[in-house]
Amino acid sequence: MSRGAAAIRAMIAAAAIAAATVSPAWAQQASDLVAPEQAFGTGTARSATATRQIVVAAHPLAADAGLEILRAGGSAADAVVAVQTVLGLVEPQSSGLGGGAFLVWYDAASRTLTTFDARETAPAQATPDLFRDDAGKPLPFFDAVVGGRSVGVPGVPRLLETIHRRYGQRPWPSLFAPALNLAEQGFKVSPRLAASIAEDAGRLDGQPSTRAYFFHADRTPLTAGETLRSPDYAQTLRALASTGAAAFYQGPLAARIVDAVRSHPANPGLLSASDLEAYRVKERPALCAPYRGYDVCGMGPPSSGATAIGQILGMLQPFDLAALGPDDPTSWRLIGDATRLAFADRERYLADSDFVSIPKGLLDPSYLASRSSLLRRPTAIGKDEATAGEPPWDKAELRRDGMPLDLPSTSHFVIVDAAGNVASMTSSIENAFGARLMVGGFLLNNQLTDFSFSPVADGTNVANRVEPGKRPRSSMSPTIVLKDGRPAFALGSPGGSNIIPYVTATLVGLIDWGMSLPEAVAMPHLVNRFGVYDLEAGTSAEDMAGDLEALGYAVSGKDLNSGLHGTAWVDGSIVGAADPRREGIARGD
Ligand code: GLU
Repeated sequence: MSRGAAAIRAMIAAAAIAAATVSPAWAQQASDLVAPEQAFGTGTARSATATRQIVVAAHPLAADAGLEILRAGGSAADAVVAVQTVLGLVEPQSSGLGGGAFLVWYDAASRTLTTFDARETAPAQATPDLFRDDAGKPLPFFDAVVGGRSVGVPGVPRLLETIHRRYGQRPWPSLFAPALNLAEQGFKVSPRLAASIAEDAGRLDGQPSTRAYFFHADRTPLTAGETLRSPDYAQTLRALASTGAAAFYQGPLAARIVDAVRSHPANPGLLSASDLEAYRVKERPALCAPYRGYDVCGMGPPSSGATAIGQILGMLQPFDLAALGPDDPTSWRLIGDATRLAFADRERYLADSDFVSIPKGLLDPSYLASRSSLLRRPTAIGKDEATAGEPPWDKAELRRDGMPLDLPSTSHFVIVDAAGNVASMTSSIENAFGARLMVGGFLLNNQLTDFSFSPVADGTNVANRVEPGKRPRSSMSPTIVLKDGRPAFALGSPGGSNIIPYVTATLVGLIDWGMSLPEAVAMPHLVNRFGVYDLEAGTSAEDMAGDLEALGYAVSGKDLNSGLHGTAWVDGSIVGAADPRREGIARGD
């Protein structure tokens, strides 16, 4: 093991140990199904090794629910329904029925990959000015988020139905039982949920629906370990279980969603009953990029995830990162500047490809080779040079950079069933607690704020401007990595646009630095999207500050709360690992 690898292993272990303890007060209902792997200190509390089937999710109750379905003979698609409906209850701030998702699916029988785009859509009445004030100025972020304006048509309920119809093995109503039981019997509020409520109390307390659910009658917020029940959510689940997704997109529940959005007193939105009725999940081909003998596959547009990850890895390919190791600042100069170049392209070119044309050559090997040559220098790329490139394109369109704003929430989970099918899904209501509006026991998303607030720059349209029926650009990066056509790794993370560097660094850890999956997801974060090098506060990533400054970067300590959840196929076993920074866990047989 190199000096660098030894040092980073020590810092990974320290980070994992600090964050690993699951409080028995709230996790007590999660039965201890799998003995944790012993190879990684106390950090292994969040990992598991399986030979048959496995679930890795952001909450033990969600992982248990998925495993219960798998044990009953369910497929990974069946388990997705159970995991997502439980997450929407126990981790409501991150994802749920009121949000959207991207799913990458590996079909074991045909050995093929496909993806499902269940991203929220803008209402038919939306205009490019949705997030500008009367004077044409972009709204302050939270003025746009809280209320009805930011709510896009949710995609999750239709996605659950779509994949169950295609890949399901168990009866649809049975998949709702775990969430229904928990909604009726109650579950213990987790420390993370309690902390999120306390942190956002000022906004949640201002909206009657969230005040009623997340606070006591005396307006004090719920605390960790308290039991929470949701009769409203139970009612929604019963309707979905008996009628299917139509119970969400039509009828009384749809009417309540439309009413909550349109009649919001301070910030009404434009969502209508016909928008809900028209919602469709889109199946799209997986977007794959080669990296050192692997195929790294994920979501194409409207997500920027797989394109940006493929670009970064493509630019890194000519450099011997394995020899440099994770402790050499040069590794981070290369990774950081490749990320900046990919983000410059992302900002200019990436958006919903059903609405705007996107250069066909963003992953073209010769284009990436020319971008990569910009990294052949001793110090950081200057700000003026870290700009969008000119990839091969069928069009001759002008593009200007948009105005990105996304703050992290979201949840990633991975499920492998006994037949070998793999679901890698990132699911989101965008900001923590979304639009802060609750209907039917779930929160409505604020995903429309992932559009550029300014539709034009210097008189030219930006690709990611609001348009009716369009899907906002995402950074979500559900990923499945293939080796010789078979799954080698499946992973993803929350984190807004930091998702892209989180997932990329994890892949470099796995492929170049020989880390195990639990080590790779616990690796301290060093992230550079726009020039400043963000170093994960309170970890030994901060020890790299002086070296990175010497290379020409400004550095800043930051809370970099990923939630990397994944699986790795190792010697006939499946290793599952959950990020020690959050409450997730892997459970398998
Ligand atoms: N809205 C973000 C996106 O779609 C995800 C938010 C997050 O991960 O926290 O890219």
